[in-house]
Parts: sequence; structure tokens; C-alpha cells
Amino acid sequence: MRILQALKKFRFPNVYVLILIVFISCALLICINFFTIKILSATRAYVNGESHYSKGQKDASRHLITYLYTKDPKQWKLYLEEIEVPQGDGIARITLLKAGDNQIARRGFLIGRNHEEDLDDVIWVFDNFKNVSFLSKAIDEWGQGDDLIFKLFIIGQQINAKIKHNLLTTADQHKYLKEISSISDLLTVKERNFSNTLGEGTRKIKDLLIITNVVFTLIIICSVCLYYSIMVKRLLISKKETEVKNENLALANRELDRFVYSASHDLRSPITSLQGLIELTALEDDVNQIRDYLKLMHQSLARQDQFISDIIDYSKNKRKQIVIEPVSLKELFNEAISQLMHIENANKIKFTQELLVDEIESDGFRLRIIICNLLSNAIKYADNSKQEMIISIKSYKNEDVNQIEISDNGIGINDEYKDSIFEMYFGTNKNKGSGLGLYIVKEAVENIKGNISVISENKIGSRFIVTIPNPNGI
Ligand code: ADP
Repeated sequence: MRILQALKKFRFPNVYVLILIVFISCALLICINFFTIKILSATRAYVNGESHYSKGQKDASRHLITYLYTKDPKQWKLYLEEIEVPQGDGIARITLLKAGDNQIARRGFLIGRNHEEDLDDVIWVFDNFKNVSFLSKAIDEWGQGDDLIFKLFIIGQQINAKIKHNLLTTADQHKYLKEISSISDLLTVKERNFSNTLGEGTRKIKDLLIITNVVFTLIIICSVCLYYSIMVKRLLISKKETEVKNENLALANRELDRFVYSASHDLRSPITSLQGLIELTALEDDVNQIRDYLKLMHQSLARQDQFISDIIDYSKNKRKQIVIEPVSLKELFNEAISQLMHIENANKIKFTQELLVDEIESDGFRLRIIICNLLSNAIKYADNSKQEMIISIKSYKNEDVNQIEISDNGIGINDEYKDSIFEMYFGTNKNKGSGLGLYIVKEAVENIKGNISVISENKIGSRFIVTIPNPNGI
């Protein structure tokens, strides 16, 4: 029971929130991986493109130098073919920087011998990340490289013009060779810088990707574990609840068996005695004796009536829902007293009331059962050998609960019976009751989550104290 309560007290996070977390984490993970792979693939394409750029520039330089010294037009043609490669990349770069037509950029990249299938990623990365530090640095190096390519192109034009007009001198050849070599050296530095910057960026992206993957995977694993632990705990709770319900059911079954057995016996006994009395009356001629028999018959019927009414209370108390409503204790006491006045000696008893609390919020039906049974016992077990028979009724507030007290100076309860009086069918005098009264009272008190205690002394009297909790405690 304690484990069940402890488990119940544990507040579960909503499982739907966990499912949502897992769903969002998975979606984010897929997106992050998709875009990172796209970026990495584009970066690889850029590095690839750079190697074509570099090769094109170097071959162009080589063919130009050969042309410079051999004046072979074939070399000039080859030069023009190779210089186109870095120039194509340059056109693409300028177009993308100006946010121009992507088709022109594509054509430029194709001239730069980039693979057609890489172009979408290459352009997408340029468009979206050109301002990201590593890419903007790489583009800057690329731009400086393009300036050098342009210079190489101008030198080529000058050499070609001089060769065509037969104006090229040996001094010119030396000068141009020097210029081409120096441009080529500078371009090698720029190309290396470009590749290194991209490589650095790629490594950073890879590290970031690993961290995000680990974080999101951990979030997903934790959420799934929490989800399963919640489900297992819920299962445990429902298993415990089922066990408790089964136990209660078995208890109720045993109680019902006992109830049916005793009820059938107790219902029959007044009928049997009634039959006997009728037979005796039929044989009797003495009117006074007949009157005595009739009185006994009346008592048997009253007992039967009381027993049936106890059974009805018992059944209603078991089934009826708790209804919290404003209840007047004063009204309940007065109503009960007037209903119980038919009990023998009731009119000889002095009732005193000291009600410090009247209107309370509780279950009126249960309170009526409790008050009626306690008052009826106080009347039934009054001690008519005493000079004055008194029943005192009290109500008061004790801390944050209300209490009622019903005391009498009746016959009191023997110490040996005190532990049994709340049991089903326990009664010391079967002529006075069914033995169900205090059992029903105890059940009714438990239904409103209250408490009942008794102080009694044989031949002195008894005091029953009922604690009625606040409705929000029920
Ligand atoms: P019953 O129908 O026999 O009165 P209850 O369950 O109401 O059954 O009470 C059980 C027993 O407790 C009674 O038989 C009686 O012995 C004892 N009892 C209850 N209330 C009082 C009381 N106010 N004074 C003395 N005895 C009492």
C-alpha cells in the first residue's frame, strides 16, 4: 500500500511532451545532417574545382612560356584553352557575388571544369554562406587569384601582339618570363590559401556535426528511456491497483457470504418467534395473557423492522456516492431524536445539546446514519436503574476538523467487548439490535474519511466521538 502511494505521488512528465521532444530532435537531426552533408559535399567540390583552376593556370603559364620562346601558334591555342579554366571560375565568382544570373555562374563553373552534378550545391553554398568567415576568406583569396589570372591574360595578349608584329626582343622574352613566373608563384600561394581555408572550415563543420549528433542522440535516448520508465511505472501502478482491487473484492465476497448467512438467520428468527406466539395466542382464553403475547409479537415485528432498515442503510452506505453539501447538525440531531422516541424508555431520558458548530460541509446521508445509530444505541443501552437517564450531544471545532460527541450515563460497555463492538453482527443483546449498527457507523465514518473513538465504563456510561474532516480532505 505504501509503495503504491509513493508511486502515485510521483509526478510524471506528460508522455506526449516526450514524444514531441523525440520527434523534434529526430527532425532537427535529419535537417542538420542533410544540410551539413550538402555543405561538406559543396566544399569538396570547391577543393576539386581549385585543383582544376590551379592545373589550368599552370598549364596556361607553361604554354605561354613555350609560345614566348618558340612562337608556335599551337602553343598559343593551348594557352588560350587552359587560361579559360580559371577565367570561367572567375566569371562564376563575380556573377554570384553580384547575385546575378545563376545560369551564367553555372556556365562559368562548367568552363572551370567543375562537375555538373556538383553545381547546385556549389552555388547554394556560395549564395547562403558567402559571408560565413571561412568561406568569405576563401572567396577573398579566390578574388586575388583572379586578379593575377587577369594580369597573366594581359601579358599573354602583349606577347601575342608583339609576336604577331614581330616586335618581340630577347629582353622582352626575359622580362615576360620573369613576370609570368612571379604571377605563377603568387597564384600558387593564393591557391594553397584557398584550399587550406576551406579545409579548416570543413574540419570545424565536422566537429560541430559530431557534437550536434551526440547531443541530439543523447536527447533522444534520454527521452525514450524516460518514456519507457514512465510506462513501466504506470504498469506497476495499475498492477498494484488491480491487486488491491482484487483483495478488496475477495474481502467483499467473504463479507457478503457472512452477511447473507447471518441475515437469513436473523430475518427468520423473529418470524419463527411470531409463529410460536400466534400458536400460543390461538390456544389462550385469558385476555391479559393474549395482551402479553401481542406485546411480544409487536416487539418481534419492531426488531424485524429495525433489522430491515439496518440492511437498507448498510446497502445504501456501500453504494451511494459521497455528496458534499451544507448540513445542519442541529437539524440532524433533532430529526433523529424525534424518530427514535418510539424506543422503550426514550421519553424518560433527558437530552442535552451543546452545539458550538451547526452548519458544516459534509455528506448528509452518512452523517444521518452515524447520528441515528449512535443516538439509538444511547437510548437502547440507557440504564433505567439510574435516577436520571441523560444523553448529552455536543459539536465543536477541533483545530481544522469538526467533532461530534454523543455521551450517555447508560449501562456502559464491558472491557472485553470494547474491541469487538464495531464488528459485523456483534451485539451483546440480540433482543435489542441486529449487531449491524456500529459496523455501519464505522463504514460511514470511513466513507467520509473521518474517525470514530469510544470511551466507556461499565455501569457508568459511554462517550462516542466522531471526527468529521473538511470536505477538501475527502
Ligand atoms: P446492536 O444492534 O446490537 O445495538 P451495535 O453494532 O449498534 O449493535 O452495537 C454493538 C454493541 O455495542 C451493542 O450490542 C452493545 O453491547 C454495545 N453498545 C453500543 N452502543 C452502546 C452504548 N451507548 N452503551 C452501551 N453499550 C453500547
